Amino acid sequence: MTALRIDGKALARQVQDGISKEILELNNKLGRAPCLAVILVGDNPASKVYVKAKAKNAESCGIDTIDVFLPGNIDNKMLEAKIKELNTKPNIDGILLQLPLPPGLDEYKALSAIDPALDVDGLHPINQGLLLRGEKSLRPCTPSGVIELIDYAREKLGLKRDISGLQSTVVGRSILVGKPVSLMLLERHCTVTLCHSRTKNLMEECRRADILVAAVGRQELIKGDWVKKDAIVIDVGINRTESGALVGDVDFQSVSKIAAAITPVPGGVGPMTIAMLLKNTLESAKQRAAHGGKVT
Ligand code: NAD
Repeated sequence: MTALRIDGKALARQVQDGISKEILELNNKLGRAPCLAVILVGDNPASKVYVKAKAKNAESCGIDTIDVFLPGNIDNKMLEAKIKELNTKPNIDGILLQLPLPPGLDEYKALSAIDPALDVDGLHPINQGLLLRGEKSLRPCTPSGVIELIDYAREKLGLKRDISGLQSTVVGRSILVGKPVSLMLLERHCTVTLCHSRTKNLMEECRRADILVAAVGRQELIKGDWVKKDAIVIDVGINRTESGALVGDVDFQSVSKIAAAITPVPGGVGPMTIAMLLKNTLESAKQRAAHGGKVT
C-alpha cells in the first residue's frame, strides 16, 4: 500500500483563501492593509529565498510587507535597536526576524526585543511561556502548520479529528519546531515522546509512534523500518543533497510503503509554515484593529 501524500500546498492555499477573505473585511476597520516587517541580517542565500517566498504569499493575501535588510556585520545592540524602532511603528502588525542570524549575533536576545504582540513567529519568551501554559498566544508557525497537516491527513483518511491518547514521537528539540510541536500535541492529549541527538534507540521510539514528526535536519534519517504501520508522518526537515535537490529527514520512498500518510519535501510543511505566518499576522492586525490601532 502507498501512503496518502499530504498536499501541504493545497492546504496552504485553502488557509490563505480564508485569510484573504478576512483581510477584505479587516481593511475597513484598520483603515489600511495589515503589514508584516521581515528582517534579514546578512546575505544567507537560503534565507533570501524564504524571505522572498514569504513576501510573495503575503502580497497574494493582501498583506503588505516591509523588507528590512541589515548588514551581516551589525552587532546585537544595533539589531535590537532596529527591532525596537519597528515595534513603535503604527502601521506594522507583525515582525519576523529571519533565522539563522550570522555567527556572533545572539538569536535569543534579538527575538526577545520583538514586542510579544507583534511576534508573528511566536518565538518571544512570553509567547513560548503562554504556549507552555496552554494559553492563547501567537504560536510558532511551523509547529502550528504541523498540527493542521495532521488534522488534514486524518480527515482525508476518514479518521476522527480527536487524537487524544495516540502515541506521538517528535524527533528534534529546537524552540522553533521540536519543543513547541511537542507542547501542541500534548495540548491535543497525545502521549508525547520528544527525541533528540542523545536519545537511545531512536528507531524504537519512532516505531511506537502513531504520529511521527521529524525535525532534525539529517537527510533521510528515518527509514521505512523505523515507522509503525499506518502512522501519520510529518517531515519538517529540509536538506540539500549533493546534487542540489531538496529532501526531508524521512526517506519518502521506503516510509510511504508503511505509513498511512506522509508529507513530501518540498510541498508539505514549508507552504504551511508560510500560511501560519500570514494567519498570525492577520491575528495580530485584528487585535490592533480591536484596540483602536494600538498594540495590545
Ligand atoms: P535544529 O538544528 O535547531 O535542531 C535539530 C534537532 O535535531 C536538535 O534538537 C537535535 O538534538 C536533533 N538531532 C540532531 N541530530 C540528531 C540525530 N542524529 N538523531 C536524533 N536527533 C537529532 O533544527 P530546527 O531549526 O529544529 O530544524 C530542523 C529541520 O527542520 C531542519 O532541516 C530545518 O531546515 C527544517 N525546518 C523546516 C521548516 C519548514 O518550514 N519546512 C521550518 C523550520 C525548520
